Amino acid sequence: MHSNIRSLDLQKKLLYWYDRQARALPWRQNKDPYKIWVSEIMLQQTQVKTVIPYFLKWVVRFPTLKSLAEASLDQVMPYWAGLGYYRRARMLHEGVRFVLAQYGGRIPAKALELRKIPGIGRYTAGAISSIAFNEKSPVVDGNVIRVLTRLNAIRKDVGKTKVMKGLWKLAESLLPSKKVGDFNQALMELGATVCLPENPKCPDCPVNSHCAAFQKNEPEAYPVKSKREKIERLRAFSSVLIKKNKVLIQKQKQGERWGNLWMFPYWMKREAMMKDLGEHPRELVHQQSLNHHFTKYKIRLEVSHYQVKDATNVPFKRTKWVAFSDLKKYAFPSHHRKIADTLIEIYA
Ligand code: SF4
Repeated sequence: MHSNIRSLDLQKKLLYWYDRQARALPWRQNKDPYKIWVSEIMLQQTQVKTVIPYFLKWVVRFPTLKSLAEASLDQVMPYWAGLGYYRRARMLHEGVRFVLAQYGGRIPAKALELRKIPGIGRYTAGAISSIAFNEKSPVVDGNVIRVLTRLNAIRKDVGKTKVMKGLWKLAESLLPSKKVGDFNQALMELGATVCLPENPKCPDCPVNSHCAAFQKNEPEAYPVKSKREKIERLRAFSSVLIKKNKVLIQKQKQGERWGNLWMFPYWMKREAMMKDLGEHPRELVHQQSLNHHFTKYKIRLEVSHYQVKDATNVPFKRTKWVAFSDLKKYAFPSHHRKIADTLIEIYA
């Protein structure tokens, strides 16, 4: 088939399939660029089913860009607590404040303009401009990489910048002149539901007649990736300091990984913990072990409870003693949320 006719046929088949098969996700209900922005940021490195409840609560509490921009980070973080990668929330907050200050609250329609906003990269800019404004800008995420490399049997290492540049170009060349947002979403949806990393459902795929990998009977050979970074295993230690019916929590410094969230004091070395607590180890009662996974680390967190006799010696900054029953009100990252839930169960 002539390449133009070929892409027209591919566009038609994908759009037809998307119209009928797309999952009814809450952020697909309208084309509000603010809500698309929020959903795209939440969906980075996070599964759709995890995001849905967070997104639904978020849009009730922050229904407009202005409402989010006017809230403080302390008011915002509880709505992200548990989703992980907290920098995303802080950047989103910074981004909407930027739009309010620079563009009077109107989100720009062009991808190039959108990329000037803090926290918006090429992918998010493409998603917002194409879905909300139908601008002809491509999106390339993990799902799209898989679909494109399979359709075209691209055997090059997608870990290389040059190869990725080629994929962005290819994605751009495939865009239809209308329904650009639907087409981009169709590519991503195909990757998420049909063109799966393992056991792709090629017989059900609407574009299998265009797919070189399918024709060669080797879909799983793509994409080619250089070896992944090794996962590092670490141990960490957390002490829950208890004084009568209260517990000590500590606010994390702004600019750090868990900035603005609350945590129980923690250490990467047991000796450092013992030194800070300055008490005999027997006073620490091991309570639970939690496994926590982030980026390239697998962390085993050992949690001990410690009954404090003299609270004046506690050597931590930005702390608060709170009643067990009040722990629900504070925003914790998910592994410390588990500690808080155990405390509520035992003591509240
Ligand atoms: Fe993916 Fe198979 Fe469809 Fe090719 S035919 S795009 S490998 S699902």
